Amino acid sequence: MTNIRHNWTKEEILTIYNKPFMELLYEAATVHRQHHDPNTVQVSTLLSIKTGGCPEDCGYCPQAARYHTNVEGNDLMSVQQVKAQALRAKSTGSSRVCMGAAWRNVKDGAEFDQVLEMVRTINKLEMEVCCTLGMITENQAHRLAEAGLYAYNHNLDSSEEYYKEVISTRGYEDRLQTIDNVRKTNVTVCSGGIIGMGEKIEDRAGMLVALSTLNPQPESVPINALVAVEGTPLADEKPVEIWDMIRMVATARIVMPETQVRLSAGRTQMSREGQAMCFFAGANSIFAGDKLLTTPNPDVNEDLKMFEALGLNPQKPFTKKVQPQTVEAAESQFQALGEKPKWTRPEHKIERNEVAKQQSKILK
Ligand code: SF4
Repeated sequence: MTNIRHNWTKEEILTIYNKPFMELLYEAATVHRQHHDPNTVQVSTLLSIKTGGCPEDCGYCPQAARYHTNVEGNDLMSVQQVKAQALRAKSTGSSRVCMGAAWRNVKDGAEFDQVLEMVRTINKLEMEVCCTLGMITENQAHRLAEAGLYAYNHNLDSSEEYYKEVISTRGYEDRLQTIDNVRKTNVTVCSGGIIGMGEKIEDRAGMLVALSTLNPQPESVPINALVAVEGTPLADEKPVEIWDMIRMVATARIVMPETQVRLSAGRTQMSREGQAMCFFAGANSIFAGDKLLTTPNPDVNEDLKMFEALGLNPQKPFTKKVQPQTVEAAESQFQALGEKPKWTRPEHKIERNEVAKQQSKILK
């Protein structure tokens, strides 16, 4: 019988994170084997369906309109374009397509209707569909669920305390509210964060407290290592040490035994050996494709070679949960309500974000 704890404290999680490395690795690998097939790794393809021009100020993100980066903005992709990319991803072993749009929150209207059509189309390809579209209301979550959405991604990014050092245009409580809205449907939750943003180990533990005390715990937890992009406020942060990544994965595995822990951004900075240790420590999902939204990612062929060398098999779609049924738009019970939810805007000043914004004005 599974005994999932939802009352982890920061002290307990810090104790796990700081264990002697070999002990931590052994414990995490043991928990991993009790709950998962250690030779199976779920593969997701992340697709940027609407790139750049985002009004938020996330300090790590090259898609924020206020920073000067090399990201070229694109309007929302067509359903046909998305379908073609999904078929390509399927042919190279991806079981899931995750569609990301650089929006603050979802607005009812033609663009959201188009995204719903994308969800219907990919679900009919027998692939798991995930979306990451910013904050959503309960009604919007229901509409996505009806279309056949399998997962909704909404990262907590860091601890509640450190979040305020990275983002000023939206609040932590809105992140939690969106996750709660998703939980009112049968869509699974994908939520994780980023390490290497200048946070303390306590913040990493704080993020794992926030995630592991959710009830139910998220079905997927992506662990990203910051990819420092020129022009963003976090451009000068040092690359994450592989040991930190392994410790983070192992700790996430121990406190969230049934969750799929995903190695996400930052894999290009990791050797194959480093990634193998992450898999041993409990990571059992990756993002595939040569780009993660806008930042580089290992080539698909490289990943296939790594899987072969390690004897890993891609997880089949709907292994963990049955495929949702798609309800066509005409039969939908949930219609657009044209809601105008009041998502928060703390708007506190973050010095490095201000500096990057000023710098951007000069360069533009
Ligand atoms: S992380 Fe998302 S919300 Fe934040 S700036 Fe980038 S695209 Fe916008």
